[in-house]
Amino acid sequence: MKTNLLDFNHKSLKEFVKNIGEKPFHADQIFKWIHQRGVSDIAQMTDLSKKLREYLLEHCEVYAPEIAEEQIAKDGTIKFKVRLRDGNCVESVFIPEDDRGTLCISSQVGCSLNCSFCSTARQGFNRNLTPGEIIGQVWMVARRLEKLDENYIHSKKITNVVMMGMGEPLLNFDAVVTAMDIMMDDLAYGLSKRRVTLSTSGVVPMMHRLKEVSESSLAVSLHAPTNELRNILVPINKKYPIEELMAVCREYFKIGGKRRIMFEYVMLEGVNDSIEQAHQLVKLLGDLNCMVNLIPFNPFPETIYKRSSNTRIREFQKILDAAEITCITRRTRGDDIDAACGQLVGKVADRTSRSRLMKKKSSPGVNQ
Ligand code: SAH
Repeated sequence: MKTNLLDFNHKSLKEFVKNIGEKPFHADQIFKWIHQRGVSDIAQMTDLSKKLREYLLEHCEVYAPEIAEEQIAKDGTIKFKVRLRDGNCVESVFIPEDDRGTLCISSQVGCSLNCSFCSTARQGFNRNLTPGEIIGQVWMVARRLEKLDENYIHSKKITNVVMMGMGEPLLNFDAVVTAMDIMMDDLAYGLSKRRVTLSTSGVVPMMHRLKEVSESSLAVSLHAPTNELRNILVPINKKYPIEELMAVCREYFKIGGKRRIMFEYVMLEGVNDSIEQAHQLVKLLGDLNCMVNLIPFNPFPETIYKRSSNTRIREFQKILDAAEITCITRRTRGDDIDAACGQLVGKVADRTSRSRLMKKKSSPGVNQ
């Protein structure tokens, strides 16, 4: 199989070029052709020497996943069903706003974490995406947006990327970090570290690693102020409880610079939205200079949860405001096409993986 040039960040592309006996600066040229000019046809990379071009044509390719389906919501949000080479599908969502365009991308086919309020969890887990399949979503959507006609009246530029689609990005660590390197590289997409955000359910050891190797912004899916409730909503909490999660977050705040953490909190009626829980949240986060993002729950078929009322969300927010915790309520976007947070399902070819995983974990002799 040919080497996919989309799998390389700048540094690894330089090494690749060096290893085939060429000068490393050719990596800069290739990188710009692919990511800035959107060229996938190696024959068109005209400033490379003939010898190098012929080598690349024979051994390499630029392969991005394809758009299988595209749906445009009334508010301009576009949901892309993205087909991978093996037939699996993931979803990416473009969310235009007045002053920016945010692309939400997936890191895994399905998800292994089983958060009780997320529809991706029901798909089971199939596999990790490759770096090329992750950055390929940015590459492919950027090309597609350029081609939209004047009937699409919204912003067509990707200014922000959030790793908030299907999957848990920190369980696909190397591929996700490589793809985020490319997003932040000046010879590729040149997005600032504030405009590239990784969202995690709280895989604590990987959060420690992330702060050593990447400058991306971080969002943490908190969703509950106590372990008792978080164990139910975000089951990985049983492995990495709130105390450990807060300890690693504190380390992020200690690092110099303006690194921020945003805590995501989905608003579930009668579950985590009481006034008392708002006060518990203030107590948990009060001494951190952080931001809280309240997400009105987005329903999906067969869920047991309901969205908190707008009044309750406002009351909850007021308590955080009073404690001077910066808090915004996320506007629901694209829900008429099931493109909102937690509604992404894609198409997972083999859904047995999670049941297999669960079986492995349970003690022998226990009936499933
Ligand atoms: N696995 C990562 C990335 C997913 S990000 C994480 O957990 O952070 C998607 C965000 O939307 C997370 O904060 C997730 O908890 C939230 N979410 C999931 N299902 C939702 C739903 N039905 N309604 C609103 N938000 C939801």
